[in-house]
Amino acid sequence: MIVFDNVTKVYPGGNTALKNVSLHIHKGEFVFVLGHSGAGKSTFLKLILREEKATSGHVLVDGKDLSRLKEREVPYLRRNMGVVFQDFRLIPSMTAYENVAFAMRVTNIPEKKIVARVPYVFNLVGLSGKMDKYPDELSGGEQQRVALARALVHSPQLIIADEPTGNIDPELSVEMMGLLSAINSVGITVVVVTHEHELARRFSKRVIRIDHGNVVGDTAEAPVGEVLL
Ligand code: ADP
Repeated sequence: MIVFDNVTKVYPGGNTALKNVSLHIHKGEFVFVLGHSGAGKSTFLKLILREEKATSGHVLVDGKDLSRLKEREVPYLRRNMGVVFQDFRLIPSMTAYENVAFAMRVTNIPEKKIVARVPYVFNLVGLSGKMDKYPDELSGGEQQRVALARALVHSPQLIIADEPTGNIDPELSVEMMGLLSAINSVGITVVVVTHEHELARRFSKRVIRIDHGNVVGDTAEAPVGEVLL
């Protein structure tokens, strides 16, 4: 699903964010990418989303080398990935429903499909009763679930959660991890990017540790087993 083949990323100005990173995230895996601030986690995400290009080496998503992807192909790449950003990135002037519907409208999906799909994804994240609320009428955890609903709307193969516990309290983060596990159990690959060791430790999943741009640990094959809470 995601292959990093000897990837180095040097930003203009000379900051090396990733150094000779090689890794393979398989379809259907649940993976934590763990590292301190400045370790290279955001760069890792930006490379997968083709917001940045590798300076050397290759990033492949579903067999496609992203350095060879044409600009017009980038939106299709991103549509196959749902990202839940740390700050949720909801539009404050739109209801929860409209926020999710908007993500479909911009891709020219017919209204009939939107009307059917949006309530379905709200149901998946357990937020059916709050579709008509505006973001500022929702708790942090609820806003995060709207962001997750939006991430799921195009039926992506991959869900990326960027610092999912950053803006919500610990109880709600357990709930979010439960939702991500449920999503993973139907075959969707889940990548959780976090600086929280404790979060990664609590779940018996694969943990890739990044430090100063290097992969310094990888538990590789995830032990089989359910979420340990
Ligand atoms: P993390 O997400 O783990 O905090 P980042 O990927 O944001 O780490 O950053 C890794 C390194 O790359 C840091 O040293 C950071 O200062 C540097 N960096 C990140 N983005 C840029 C940029 N746009 N320009 C220059 N340096 C950057």
